[in-house]
Amino acid sequence: MNALLTPDLSQTTLNSVTNLDFLTRERLREIQWKKLDIMVRHAYANSPWYREQMKAKKLLPGDIRSLDDLYKMPLVTKQVLRDTYPFGLFSVPLDKIVRMHASSGTTGKPIVVAHTREDLAVWAQSVVRSLKSYGVHQNDVLQNAYGYGLFTGGLGLHDGGQALGVTVVPISGGNTERQVMLMRDFGVTVVSCTPSYFLHILDKAEEMGTDLRELPIRVGVFGAEPWSEEMRERIEERAAIKAYDIYGLTEICGPGVGAECSHQNGTHIFEDHFYPEIIDPETLEPLPDGQEGELVFTTLDRFAMPMIRYRTRDITCLMTDECPCGRTIRRMRRIAARTDDMFIIRGVNVFPGQIEAALLAVEGTAPHYQIILTRQFGGLDDVEVRVELKPEDFSDKIGVLEGFQRKISHEIHRVTGIHANVTLVAPGTIPRSEGKAKRVIDQRVI
Ligand SMILES: [Zn+2]
Repeated sequence: MNALLTPDLSQTTLNSVTNLDFLTRERLREIQWKKLDIMVRHAYANSPWYREQMKAKKLLPGDIRSLDDLYKMPLVTKQVLRDTYPFGLFSVPLDKIVRMHASSGTTGKPIVVAHTREDLAVWAQSVVRSLKSYGVHQNDVLQNAYGYGLFTGGLGLHDGGQALGVTVVPISGGNTERQVMLMRDFGVTVVSCTPSYFLHILDKAEEMGTDLRELPIRVGVFGAEPWSEEMRERIEERAAIKAYDIYGLTEICGPGVGAECSHQNGTHIFEDHFYPEIIDPETLEPLPDGQEGELVFTTLDRFAMPMIRYRTRDITCLMTDECPCGRTIRRMRRIAARTDDMFIIRGVNVFPGQIEAALLAVEGTAPHYQIILTRQFGGLDDVEVRVELKPEDFSDKIGVLEGFQRKISHEIHRVTGIHANVTLVAPGTIPRSEGKAKRVIDQRVI
């Protein structure tokens, strides 16, 4: 196999793996093209689905002659993964597949993804590069509170952390008191979980009389759900850590497709493995860097299940300015809102993250909230936003609470253009999450 496509996880390689973040653009494009050529040929030869799609477009692998021809290839949607459930997109024999993951499948059938040993090594390397860009090193102790299992968060961070040589504490999600105890007793320096679970840990720590600011934790690796810049500020302040975003999606591998660097000014994409494009979601035409559109990824070295031009439904743009960190891999604007989470209320598109940003802009609110959607008899939709106040701001004086309600609902209207009914609830009443938070409860009968 081509040397480019044989990732290994030996220490020498890992010490130099971050060099891939700093290649010249020419060298990077050369590597990308070589890998893409192999990937297209592999998909055509070994995946009946890709072969059929290419035939329908009268395309042969030889018609893709450079990165600039990639747009000719068909797009892959989430629906394709559902329709081919479970193994329809596998492109190697089952005996070459060493692991499968699946999405939770709350709406219909789950998405199944498969990895060869080499695919897993690519993924682990990407997590290594993510951790390195947060300044994590071998002396760190990483408490991995992402769920272990079919969900990619737990094993993704686990393999990457272990490959980098940090000490991994594979605690998974839940058992929050124990999380706090281990953070304290093990001298944990890095925590990975969903941002909402970290908030829960912070509350629990406070209850137990432990101040996370006094512990050696300095880095939080947060992802798997949208979170706003306002949420980042709250977390960084309360825990005295740097809170970094890790970007990923199960269909491409899991966490580690991209990561922020210490400048926290966008997400660097490990584009020698995951080639990004931005397309117009209506016309499907490719858009130049700098323009906003839908993010599309091509896995350049994933053999078990190649994803060529996978539509993520995430809206962002590739950034054109250089990052002060010196990395040459491109950045995209951080994805704080995902199209899958969007809801439509009285004709207006609203992201939960917008509501989060709006309510956190009001001093005194706690970062715990829920959005309830209901439909009146006759068809009009209503939004109720339940939000907690900080215990010290929660008062039994009606005037004080009304003041908060007014401010929050004004802010939500300013940010989203919708009128929401704001309900203030007592501290601790919104259900806490140990994984992905359920922010939106849609009670509308379709
Ligand atoms: Zn950077």
